Amino acid sequence: MNRGFPSNCGCGAGITTFTSGTQENPGRPFFRCETRGEDHLFKWVEEAMLEEVEDVLPKVEVHGTEIAKMKAEIEELMEICLNNKIEIQKNKAVTKCLVVYACIVSVAFGAYVLY
Ligand SMILES: [Zn+2]
Repeated sequence: MNRGFPSNCGCGAGITTFTSGTQENPGRPFFRCETRGEDHLFKWVEEAMLEEVEDVLPKVEVHGTEIAKMKAEIEELMEICLNNKIEIQKNKAVTKCLVVYACIVSVAFGAYVLY
């Protein structure tokens, strides 16, 4: 039998959810083949639910590991970004100094040519 929530019975018919009215299982929901045949699908909803959870847990763990990796990558990128910002600030300061220096040199050169 397939694990988790059933989508079809082996006979190809659909599945319907019913609620048990027996004394042993009052109000307990279950899946059953629409044909209600004796040898057709019957499954308690909470058993199917448990299988769903059991099957999804390893995937959640994988996602957790992936998220941890992504966080580390983001932190690495943030650091690179910060270093680039610092480099840009330094380059701006150097550019300003060069512009000032170029102005001084051209003024001095102009003065030298004129006098
Ligand atoms: Zn069936």
